Amino acid sequence: MSERGNVLIVTGGGRGIGAATCRLAARAGWDVAVNYARDRTAAERVAADVEAAGRRAVAIKGDVSVERDVVGLFEAAAASLGQIGGVVINAGVTGDPRGPLADADAEMLARVVALNVTGALLVAREAAKAMSTARGGGGGSVVALSSAAATLGSPGEYVWYAATKGAIDSMAIGLGRELAREGVRVNAVSPGLIDTEIHAGEENQRRLRERAPSVPIGRAGTADEVAEAIVWLLSDAASYVTGANLRVGGGR
Ligand code: NAP
Repeated sequence: MSERGNVLIVTGGGRGIGAATCRLAARAGWDVAVNYARDRTAAERVAADVEAAGRRAVAIKGDVSVERDVVGLFEAAAASLGQIGGVVINAGVTGDPRGPLADADAEMLARVVALNVTGALLVAREAAKAMSTARGGGGGSVVALSSAAATLGSPGEYVWYAATKGAIDSMAIGLGRELAREGVRVNAVSPGLIDTEIHAGEENQRRLRERAPSVPIGRAGTADEVAEAIVWLLSDAASYVTGANLRVGGGR
């Protein structure tokens, strides 16, 4: 059996919570594979920041809703950096335009489910294959990005997105138990209102500003505040934590 690797894969690592996680993980000693879908410049900038922190990094293009891209991502990360010991299932979209489900377009719904649910399951599957001690891996930790939306339901805004995050909650419980004796911990992090490009566009920015005061803590959170929770769950300090869901929502 091999040792736990110190290579971390972060899907959608070029921006927002993913980028903050890559940078903080580097400071915690991880070498990082920064996955991106479109924005290569942003991912390469994050990879350069990881290297500036003294760790190794590679930016890898891949649409994680596509099986061959997910398999290719794991192969490329292992070939460039070595043994994988951590995976952050971060890439996700809300789907636009926001509004009642009754007005939602079927293609938009399919795209959101393909990335947030099927993509997350594919990444989790490859993580299990790469890290399970029962399959020759060295063990490790998976953190999947859910959302406070999973329990709030997001009526009038994006019920479909909330539903996809409910799927993440179930996956973290089930896979956490499935892999518990195979050296792999699986947890979810559920951010509340976080100021990232997921709220891009004038209308979404306005909603973010309007909602921030109603968060019990009185403001939106930052990507760095979510990254702190993720990097802790990845670490050996969380060695008895699996199948858990850590809400980072300012009381929301
Ligand atoms: P963001 O700023 O919009 O960034 C999304 C990231 O996902 C980008 O790096 C993007 O890559 C990547 N991505 C999009 N489609 C992809 C695909 N098909 N394959 C691979 N990567 C893809 O998002 P964020 O706010 O940081 O959110 C990150 C996670 O936290 C998501 O799962 C989100 O649902 C969850 N979350 C966010 C909030 C919030 O308020 N921000 C709250 C709760 C939960 P490119 O740059 O290459 O396009």
